[in-house]
Amino acid sequence: MVATDYYAVLGVRRDAGQDEIKKAFRRLARELHPDVNPDPKTQERFKEINAAYEVLSDPQKRQVYDLGGDPLSPNGGGAGGFGAGAAGFGFSDIMDAFFGAASGQRGPRSRTRRGQDAMIRLEITLEEAAFGTTKELQVDTAVTCTTCSGEGAAPGTSAQTCDMCRGKGEVSQVTRSFLGQVMTSRPCPQCQGFGTVVPTPCPECAGDGRVRARRTLTVKIPAGVDNGTRIQLAGEGEVGPGGGPAGDLYVEIAETSHPTFQRRGDDLHCTVTIPMTAASLGTQVPLQTLDGLEEVDIRPGTQSGQSIPLHGRGVTHLRGGGRGDLIVHVEVQTPTKLDPEMEDLLRRLAVLRGEERPSGHFAPGQQGLFSRLKDAFNGR
Ligand SMILES: [Zn+2]
Ligand SMILES: [Zn+2]
Repeated sequence: MVATDYYAVLGVRRDAGQDEIKKAFRRLARELHPDVNPDPKTQERFKEINAAYEVLSDPQKRQVYDLGGDPLSPNGGGAGGFGAGAAGFGFSDIMDAFFGAASGQRGPRSRTRRGQDAMIRLEITLEEAAFGTTKELQVDTAVTCTTCSGEGAAPGTSAQTCDMCRGKGEVSQVTRSFLGQVMTSRPCPQCQGFGTVVPTPCPECAGDGRVRARRTLTVKIPAGVDNGTRIQLAGEGEVGPGGGPAGDLYVEIAETSHPTFQRRGDDLHCTVTIPMTAASLGTQVPLQTLDGLEEVDIRPGTQSGQSIPLHGRGVTHLRGGGRGDLIVHVEVQTPTKLDPEMEDLLRRLAVLRGEERPSGHFAPGQQGLFSRLKDAFNGR
């Protein structure tokens, strides 16, 4: 059990989203940062909010905590271990991200850092999005240099303590001003703050510890993905400098347009144009759906603008299973270019139906357009 209420420490509700947690943490971190406020009590608080953020910002740790466990204690190095730098994704990275690399640090900075996330766009067809697929991806990312194992030093040599800063990573300078003597420290210019220098850089990676390489990854695309869906592949991103742990790779889905169907959510829409006679008498029209050829049943007396749903013929729901619908919108075509015989037939029909001089039915707006707009607003 953990005694500390991490939610209370950050001042967020138990159901707070990641954004809310991040915002609360940033605000407090700026307020309580040791550089701003060196008072020991404040620093205690600062450690607390960092612990709270470490747990609540990580869905897995948060779950452990919500279930009453202590995600910081068993094998993660303990709550006191912040800033040790070796954890890769730890405290120092977060502080770097907010305050810039130099400000929050004491002592030499590590050459080993977590790599960046990478993103790759993947075009797939509507069919692939609807049913899921497996794709081979060519990715071009930084990987650990095998010649130096990420150390950056040429084989047989090693990094040496910097003689300018004696390994501290920073140099101090005393200047006189009208306020008296002022001591400033800045990152060591000879070692860039690392505390060590590499006299003979690895010839393969020029001392960076990583090289670019092309790999082939097999990615499983689940059914129901949409334009902009991102699939996270943990640890498949860029390897960090100095052989640091790799970031994540995100595969962003781009769905190519389909010649017949337009996707809205998990429903598919299309328009079928049929002649007036068929709309009146009823007919069946073949339609190539995602599941194969099917007959769309146009019932006698179908109106222009009417829609015919084919249930369960849309895209698979990404969560929860089941599928959306395929909705066929009917457009009735009025015959043009009538020859004398056709015209005669239609006139006789008009007489039979008492429609030689129809009065028409007036209503506000355009009914067909309205219903289509309503569809668009409802999103499906
Ligand atoms: Zn190398
Ligand atoms: Zn130095």
